[in-house]
Order: sequence, then structure tokens, then C-alpha cells
Amino acid sequence: MNTQTITKLLIEAGIEENEAKKEIKMLLEHFCKYTEMDRCRGIMPDEVQLSVLKEKVLERIKDRAPVQYIIGESYFMGEFFKVSPDVLIPRDETEILVTRAIEIIDREDLKDVLDVGTGSGCIACTIAKNTDAVVLGVDISSDALRVALDNVTKLGINNRAVFRKSNLFEKVRDEEKFDMIISNPPYIPLGTELSPEVDKEPKQALFASENGLEFYRKITEQAPLYLKPSGWLMFELGIGESASVKKFMQKEFSEIVVEKDLAGIDRIIYGRLKK
Ligand code: GLN
Repeated sequence: MNTQTITKLLIEAGIEENEAKKEIKMLLEHFCKYTEMDRCRGIMPDEVQLSVLKEKVLERIKDRAPVQYIIGESYFMGEFFKVSPDVLIPRDETEILVTRAIEIIDREDLKDVLDVGTGSGCIACTIAKNTDAVVLGVDISSDALRVALDNVTKLGINNRAVFRKSNLFEKVRDEEKFDMIISNPPYIPLGTELSPEVDKEPKQALFASENGLEFYRKITEQAPLYLKPSGWLMFELGIGESASVKKFMQKEFSEIVVEKDLAGIDRIIYGRLKK
């Protein structure tokens, strides 16, 4: 038994080769304390490490749960975030949204940010950790909020990112005003077929009615009430949703910008409240 034969088990179970190799590295590092540096130095994983790796690979294959749920952590913008099946796994695409948000917050010295549908808290925590802003994260799921709270502690930013159980803006008070509202809302149209891995993520974090647009519409309609003058609204976008979301936003927002991801897909949209 070696890493190649174990990697083959993943590939034979239908996991794409590059993904399989990436997951083997992640499992070795997390469960076996075997790093890329060891590999570069020509050190091979020992029998004990290989048997642990195989056990985890068999667990991964058994019900095709995402490797991040098995590890219990997911890497996002320089940090490892706790994840569980109660939260969406942070995606690479979301880094585009957070990077742009941080840039705007720094440039304009913004102080108050609201993250709607915070999930694991990856957006809220990354902004709080890398700017002078304080972030309020809201989510409808208490289970997700427990994970977000653990992440705040893990990152050592306890009073900088705070969380509240709220269905969208329901528990945000009228007098609370923010410089920026940011959201990576559920955006997959109801009825869309999912890969076995995505199917293990919380449905509440994935699906939206109105062809995937439900939360963009609701958040865009209510955001002006909770924004300071010229406040920013920023969203991550699902595939093919940019034109519709832009239309929602054009009513009350100006200077609207759409940016693409590396695959050329419109991935984020942002604008500021009209004067
Ligand atoms: N805000 C979290 C993220 O971007 C969760 C988003 C969600 O559950 N739709 O990963």
C-alpha cells in the first residue's frame, strides 16, 4: 500500500484525479501530520500514516461527504475555518467577493458591516480580521451560528465579528445602520440536481426559489433601510444571475459593478445606495 494506490481508490469512486490528489494531501496533512515539505524532502508516509489515510479515504468514499466535513476544517483566505454539515463549505469564488469588500472598506475607512446569511462566518471573520470594521453576521440557522462563533474564537477576533440569529433582517433593528451589507446568499434554483458532495451541504444554504433569485430580491429590497447614506451592497452571484440581480439593484443603487471569476463567470456584483 502506498499513496498512489490509495489515491486510486478515490478516483475509482468517481472523484476527479486532480481533486483526488488534492484531497490526499489534505488528509495526510490533517490526520497524519505528513506535509508537502516531508514529500519534497523524500520522506515517505509510514505504515501507520498510510493506514490512517486509507481509513479516511474509505470514509470519504462511503457516502461521498465532502473531504472538508471529514477534516472538520476548510481553508479560506489564509485561515482554517471550522466547518460541519451545518454550514456551507467556503468556496474559492467567495474570496473574490471578500477581497473586493476589504479593498473598499480600507479605502473608505468603513466601520460597520453586515453579513447576511453568514453560515460558517468565513466572510464576517475574514473582514473583521483584515480591516478596522466590526462585522455583524446574521443567519437563520442556530447550528450554523454555533460554527461561526467557534470560528471567531479560533481567529481571536471575539468582539470584532459578532453574530445574531435572524431570518435576513428580521432581528436587525431599524436604528442599526451599516456602511456595507454583504451576502453570499443561497442561489441555486430549486430542483437543480447536485453532485453527491454538494448534496451533503445544508439545503437551506444552497437553494433559493424564484429561479435562485429569492434572496437577492429580498435583500436588495430591504438593504436601503439598514444602510448609511451611500452605503454599499455586495453579493456573490450564481451562474447566469447577474443581469437579474443588476435589475433589482438599479432601483436604489448606483455605480453598479459586476466582476467575473477566473472561469469568466459573472461572480460578484456591488453598488452603492443612490443619494
Ligand atoms: N457566508 C457563507 C459563505 O460564504 C455562507 C453562505 C451560504 O450559506 N449561502 O460561505
